[in-house]
Amino acid sequence: MTLTIDSAVTLNNGITMPLLGLGMYQARSDGEAQQAVQWALEAGYRLIDTAQYYRNEKAVGEAIRRSAIPREEIFVTTKLWNTDHGYDRARSAFEASCQRLGLDVIDLYLIHWPVERLRGESWRALEKLYAEGKCRAIGVSNYTVRHLEELLHTAGVVPAVNQVEFSPYLYQKELLAYCQAHGIQLEAYSPLTKGQRLRDPNLVAIAQTYQKTPAQILIRWALQHKVVVIPKSTNRGRIRENADVFDFEISPEDMARLDAFDETLRTSWDPTNAL
Ligand code: NDP
Repeated sequence: MTLTIDSAVTLNNGITMPLLGLGMYQARSDGEAQQAVQWALEAGYRLIDTAQYYRNEKAVGEAIRRSAIPREEIFVTTKLWNTDHGYDRARSAFEASCQRLGLDVIDLYLIHWPVERLRGESWRALEKLYAEGKCRAIGVSNYTVRHLEELLHTAGVVPAVNQVEFSPYLYQKELLAYCQAHGIQLEAYSPLTKGQRLRDPNLVAIAQTYQKTPAQILIRWALQHKVVVIPKSTNRGRIRENADVFDFEISPEDMARLDAFDETLRTSWDPTNAL
């Protein structure tokens, strides 16, 4: 499989989405976030993952405007926060995100979390935004198979993406297979386990055999599973390091070894029991 920093996947509605992106959770809005996006764009990233919840949409928009890269070459994701569910509220929240970003069109708008009772109505609002051309794709985040089944039962538009926690330490094999079978692209958040397993001796040993860092192995593992991956960093060196994953390939044997690291580790939240 030859992957490059420009590699992209085609979503179920025909648009393309870069395979590697920059995560923005906890990137501060005081200049840190804007600087990180600038460095990432310089390093070749073309996907930026923000959210209303992260409070840095404005900085993301500013960095995109200041770059010399045409808007259509950058893929911007943002998300509907839990307190804005419901048809009308979701529409208003979307408009507010667009305003903060300074963008007319969002590439991908996600429901951040499967909020009880209201998520179906919110999805209808996203479908309408999509029909109006205000976002190029719509999707969900933190949806388990159960939440997806419920959604597919009534949805007019199949979500293009499901963004979930995904790493060798949380290898959600069934969810990945379900999404693949239904044309839903899986996207891996917290792919570096928020740093919690980067010193795992088994991971370090594999990294040494490729002369790569543990973080690079985790990112490459997701890419080789054909999963979009969005490591977060606001450090210039680590932003570059995380994009330097296209000059090697993990062998099938080592992929299997990494797959076996699964310990259902959740470093963010667990939607398993979200009603
Ligand atoms: P990650 O797994 O991406 O880990 C980020 C942490 O690892 C930061 O502390 C970062 O620090 C550090 N780091 C980054 N690169 C390296 C490296 N090469 N070596 C060592 N340490 C490194 O965690 P996130 O939870 O941030 O997940 C990534 C993105 O996924 C988020 O930013 C967000 O966009 C999305 N997300 C979505 C969620 C959802 O519910 N939809 C939930 C959680 C995340 P530093 O910045 O100093 O480099």
